[in-house]
Amino acid sequence: MSSAENATIVYRLGNECEISDLSIGKIYSGIIEGFANFGSFVYLNDSVKGLVHKSNILTTHKAGETIMVRINAIRNNGNIDLEEIIITSYTIEQISCKKRQTLLCDLKTRVGRTVHLTCQVAQIKQTSGPTIFTLVDESGTENAAGFIEAGKRAFPEVGQGNMVSVSGEVMQRGGQLQIELSDMRPLSCEEAALVEQRIEDALNERAEPEDIPLLIQSDVLQLLRPEMRKIAAQIRKAVFTAQPILVRHHADADGICSAVAIEQAVVSLINESGKDYDADYFLFKRAPSKAPFYEIEDITRDLDYATRDSIRFGQKMPLIVLTDNGSTEEDLPSMKMAEVYDIPMIVFDHHHPDEIVDQYLISHANPYHVGGDFGITAGMLGVEIARLISPGVEERIKHLAAVAAVGDRSAAPERQRYLDLVAENFPEPLCKEIASALDYEQFYLRFNDGREIIKDILFLNENEKRSRELVYLLVKESNNAIEEQIRTCMPHVQRRELDNGAHLFLLDVEIHAHKFTFPPPGKTSGEVHDRLCQMHAGQPVVTLGFGPDFAVLRSRGILLNIPEMVRNLREEMPGAGINGGGHLVVGSIKFVEGMRESALARLIEMIGTYPIE
Ligand code: MN
Repeated sequence: MSSAENATIVYRLGNECEISDLSIGKIYSGIIEGFANFGSFVYLNDSVKGLVHKSNILTTHKAGETIMVRINAIRNNGNIDLEEIIITSYTIEQISCKKRQTLLCDLKTRVGRTVHLTCQVAQIKQTSGPTIFTLVDESGTENAAGFIEAGKRAFPEVGQGNMVSVSGEVMQRGGQLQIELSDMRPLSCEEAALVEQRIEDALNERAEPEDIPLLIQSDVLQLLRPEMRKIAAQIRKAVFTAQPILVRHHADADGICSAVAIEQAVVSLINESGKDYDADYFLFKRAPSKAPFYEIEDITRDLDYATRDSIRFGQKMPLIVLTDNGSTEEDLPSMKMAEVYDIPMIVFDHHHPDEIVDQYLISHANPYHVGGDFGITAGMLGVEIARLISPGVEERIKHLAAVAAVGDRSAAPERQRYLDLVAENFPEPLCKEIASALDYEQFYLRFNDGREIIKDILFLNENEKRSRELVYLLVKESNNAIEEQIRTCMPHVQRRELDNGAHLFLLDVEIHAHKFTFPPPGKTSGEVHDRLCQMHAGQPVVTLGFGPDFAVLRSRGILLNIPEMVRNLREEMPGAGINGGGHLVVGSIKFVEGMRESALARLIEMIGTYPIE
């Protein structure tokens, strides 16, 4: 035997090794790094340290000096008892440990320790101190801090969206976990593809919603379940990957209810995944659209914010969810803009859909796709989808479906089922009051979402007394304003009989109603129509409220098809600049002012050709 084989082995612990890689009784090399009354601290690698009690010290210790130590004990609390050893003949053996991959969801159990993981960089935010990287893997998302000097971008070779390998110590700061990065590097193409696939597969599985039944019995909703599950999975995945979500909705009670249901579910899911305390504010936005479609004005504003946030805060481009609008041809120009920026879009809506929008959407739930109609309101869809996103919100939000049903005057059997579900706390009259309070308040909120005020009106904040008082007050104000409007304009309503036997009522809302105040022209026409329907119970009634360049149509007891009339008018009168749409029997039409008389005349003729129910 050679002398080398006889020599004592001294182990050198690799930096990626942990306490569990040590063996009691073996000898290691270590570096002296600090002193206490009772002995010296010795680091066996960058993160594993032990104590040589003064009774076990053989030489005079100086910081930074390398000595040999034997491991005498490893205590349950992680303390390591070392004994200094002096040997002259030995061979060094390096212990390298395969890096243990940690998942982001396990960081909380590893505070104070060094972790290694592979993940994706979702967001990079430069602060006046460190650079904050938001990391995403299949299990969750956490922040990591890199620091070179104050305000300077750390790891400049790492970009947003990169797959990276990360090492660092897990710290707890103000209740938030954070990795203090010691190393981060982009993975090679090959490695990145593997990691991406691993994360993608696991995320898809995690995003899959729970298999819960609908809140109510409904054939139409049952048929829509697969598409609603798909939407819920897409929204869940956005939350898990720190992709901002923007919900655009029609600015009426139904649209608000549908969007707020999603808001509640997404915020709850964000908070569940334990993110920064204000993550729900920069990762979720809700915005009302005045028109019943996604206007160029809306997408322009949204793109402006999204592109800025992407540059300023290193955010991903958002996932856009359109609700109670988004399924008609009028949405196309905005959808094309979104496509230029590679922004994925989801629609759930109950307006009569045009097939052409689907090529721009990653999913689209619409009762018309499965033989249903607008009686399944957006708010009902929103509540069901929200439960799939985060089942825990169900109790809080189920009354939103009932409010939406009465707000949009659903005549589907589902209306009563949702009302029955919440009858104890939200009887039908209260649902109606909430709906009109929402309409009234949104008029004055204009383009703002009024997040907290709307939650108060919907009894979603904890202060029930305030909610009751607020709803009561808003309903009173709303009714007063409507009464005043009706008193003013009813005397100006003109009546005509149509060829098909329907009563047609005409009202110039531009000159015979208050302007720029509540109720706006569409709502005014609706209120007038309701009164006319009461006065002519059981008979077919069409109400046409018009201004200089628009007309709002409401009807009862006649099988109108407003989108079809708009198409025909557009073809027949190229110089009238016709466009518009809406539901089959409720909608609006625009034209150029100079063609008003002939456009209205032809429209009235057309209405007279539709059959009576
Ligand atoms: Mn609606």
